[in-house]
Amino acid sequence: MSAQEVTDPPTPMVDADAATVRAVYRTFEQDTAPVRALRGADLAIRRGEFVAVMGPSGCGKSTLLNLIAGLDVPDEGEVVVAGQSLAGMDENALALMRREHIGIVFQFFNLLEGMTVLENVVMPAVIAGRKRRVAESRARALLDLLGIGDKARQAPATLSGGQRQRLAIARALANEPTLLLADEPTANLDPEGARTVRDFLLELRRERRTILLSTHLLDEADRICDRVGVLHTRLLAAGPPSELRAGRPGHVTRVQLAELTDAVVTAARAVAAGPVEVTSGATSSATGGPAGGTVAVPVGDPGRDNPALVAAIVAAGGRIRFVTEATTSLEEAYLTLLGGAGSTEPRVTQLEGTQLEGTQLEGTQLEGTKPGGPQ
Ligand code: ADP
Repeated sequence: MSAQEVTDPPTPMVDADAATVRAVYRTFEQDTAPVRALRGADLAIRRGEFVAVMGPSGCGKSTLLNLIAGLDVPDEGEVVVAGQSLAGMDENALALMRREHIGIVFQFFNLLEGMTVLENVVMPAVIAGRKRRVAESRARALLDLLGIGDKARQAPATLSGGQRQRLAIARALANEPTLLLADEPTANLDPEGARTVRDFLLELRRERRTILLSTHLLDEADRICDRVGVLHTRLLAAGPPSELRAGRPGHVTRVQLAELTDAVVTAARAVAAGPVEVTSGATSSATGGPAGGTVAVPVGDPGRDNPALVAAIVAAGGRIRFVTEATTSLEEAYLTLLGGAGSTEPRVTQLEGTQLEGTQLEGTQLEGTKPGGPQ
């Protein structure tokens, strides 16, 4: 090796995104009016990244995944998979692209019911030209990895919902796709089935597989993804869950006080990074004691600001009962993005071109929506 070769920095590997969606529009003609499912969606999925697109039912998640899979064509904009634009590809070229680069796990299971579990995973690889022996040993390894290796000789119909979905994932991984597309893979599963599928997706993330997951479950996106895109016909925001949280209402420190005085509130406001919410406790005037209360103080950096907040309140004569720190949940960040922070309007109102039915977010109510009512 020459001195030149030793001192030169290694040439960076040109590593194209696994998939890129640029300014994509898709409108569907429906009986009553056209539905604009996507209006200028942009998203890049880097190799080795686990991205979730998150949004309520009807926000365009499946449409986006279908476009990336080449199962549908955008009205405007461009979809690029593994460096190749899908524009102008005919059905054969698209089928080839899918075979080479895309693994699909869609809500309907897409399993071949007449074949065994093992054959379901072997078949896509054989069709793609792999040697049967190689395809079979890889299929067995995948089934083992997914915890259904002992079901290899059974029919898919004999599996539970969670096991069927894991089989669908194994099948989608049979050809080692550049990108795994998983459309709400836990949506129709019982909690136990959903948990095993989620655990497996986390396993895939550890292996640095490239995955695009769609979900309406905030908690799911929060726990298992590197990056989350909030979709509402276009990407309203995309970033690591922690970043989405931090960029929104931020951290709030609640200080419960034995006595709520003007001086204490003024002291809290001086440290606050935003409007301070003041809540009076049950008045103790009946007993002649002072009324306690709570100040909820937005802070930029709790580690830095909380000691200053406590010091300011104590200096103003405040008697602190306790201090709690509330971190913004992804749910709050999400609702803020959809509805506008601090709005007195319902936080999630009519989503244009979408329906909110069935959009119960895990552990939350959609404020301002009428459950079951017309949207
Ligand atoms: P999500 O996956 O977020 O639930 P979709 O992408 O399935 O949302 O749908 C977005 C909107 O587009 C919905 O209003 C849906 O009814 C409409 N839509 C999707 N596919 C079609 C289609 N093939 N024909 C007509 N309308 C469609």
